[in-house]
Amino acid sequence: MKFFNSERRPDGVAEADWTSATWQMQNRVRDAEGLARFISPSADELAAIEKLATTFRFVITPYYASLMDPDDPACPLRRQVVPACAELEDSAGLEDPLDEVAHSPVKNVIRVYPDRIAFCVNNECALYCRFCLRKRMVGEPDWAMQKRELGEALDWIARTPEIRDVLLTGGDPLVYSDDRLDWLITRLREIPHVEIVRLGTRLPVTLPYRVTDELCERLRKHHPVWVNTHFNHPREITEPAIEACTRLVDAGIPVGNQSVLLKGINDDPETMKQLNEALVAMRVRPYYCYQAQLLAGTAHFRVRIEDGIELFQQLRGRTSGFAIPQYVLDTPHGKVPISYPTSRGRAGDDYVVEAWNGGIWREPNP
Ligand code: SF4
Repeated sequence: MKFFNSERRPDGVAEADWTSATWQMQNRVRDAEGLARFISPSADELAAIEKLATTFRFVITPYYASLMDPDDPACPLRRQVVPACAELEDSAGLEDPLDEVAHSPVKNVIRVYPDRIAFCVNNECALYCRFCLRKRMVGEPDWAMQKRELGEALDWIARTPEIRDVLLTGGDPLVYSDDRLDWLITRLREIPHVEIVRLGTRLPVTLPYRVTDELCERLRKHHPVWVNTHFNHPREITEPAIEACTRLVDAGIPVGNQSVLLKGINDDPETMKQLNEALVAMRVRPYYCYQAQLLAGTAHFRVRIEDGIELFQQLRGRTSGFAIPQYVLDTPHGKVPISYPTSRGRAGDDYVVEAWNGGIWREPNP
């Protein structure tokens, strides 16, 4: 299968270490010196690492760092994870634009819909994305979940019979050990009204070696289990990432992708088409593409909504329908699809629509 980028394992690192999730987590890049082992940091990046040290954690897996272009500060992978001074220039951004704290009946459970919750089971990720919606909590000790707090959240789910669909998120639930994850899903499976367990994880992208056969065997026991991951750019589709997604799918786990529309990273039709066609080729379904939120420190990532609508309209008719994710705006009221208005309304006994190529069709609809 076609992949777009190859990792560059540094000299002196044994393959057995490099492909171990534990080694990757223990050897993450956390400072300018570590970063310089993979890229030539620009003056802006160096200044940002210093200025933002106390604002939002900077941590990158060696695997992901090795995918970045060492000489191009505009590299679409580098921009997602390396601090930039532009993060200091956002007067409009908010700390919690979706009002998640106000939608939380118990610590780290977010309920926007009657029947579903996002359950932030930890606040740890393999790396920290500069545009993360949960910047306020990831890596912050106050938001970590103690076992007692996990128990309180599980008790709340057990006494709330409307909840049929639980999304384990964070942070990243795959940062958990296999045993801990198995324990948590077993507890959820003991609750009769929980029908679906979903995992939201970026580890197939940022640390694909975490997705082992052993993990997939554990997950398979708890079906129906769904996974949504988070590829934003075709260059994140590497051989190990394809293997990780293939393992999940082969274990009977439907895998979807939720990307974020990011200025200068994936906000052009060709990149978006390549990304989503490659996802489909590895049996990952493009699900949502989020409009970047009005989040503190992310003005340089936000695309005008009209431009996002235009981008996805350009994909219609030019690739398979299921290779086009739904472009959505997340709001405190839930997700709202935003798309080019193809319905032209009623004209007498006809309903009028506009096709992908601009053709107008009148469907008899007495
Ligand atoms: S992996 Fe997800 S939760 Fe973690 S920092 Fe990135 S966007 Fe945030």
